[in-house]
Amino acid sequence: MNLDEARQLANVNKRAQRLFEDGYRIRSLDGNLHLIHTQHGATYTLNRAEGSCTCPFFTKNSGRYSCKHVLGFKKLLITQRFHLASLSARWETHEQAATIEQVLLSASRALSARLEVPLCLS
Ligand SMILES: [Zn+2]
Repeated sequence: MNLDEARQLANVNKRAQRLFEDGYRIRSLDGNLHLIHTQHGATYTLNRAEGSCTCPFFTKNSGRYSCKHVLGFKKLLITQRFHLASLSARWETHEQAATIEQVLLSASRALSARLEVPLCLS
């Protein structure tokens, strides 16, 4: 390995650490196959059992060096799952807040009807 290759590999390693931030997303297929969607609309197929990828870097190096997708797969998967879980938790909180609001609204409607006064909502 020459100096240029070493620099390139260091760069690949660095970029592998920030795939999620750079817009990469995983869609898992059956078994060991995963689709990697890039921020530019390209899709590569990653095979975890083989440690292979269909991206240009991996293809160009004939698998001699791992690409950033193979290197960063695990971190991307974990970050993506964490992100989805936190989005889902936020959504649930929002749903609960909406429910509480509906309960309060219907309670104040009932009260307003009983007191025979118009309901003021603002
Ligand atoms: Zn790749």
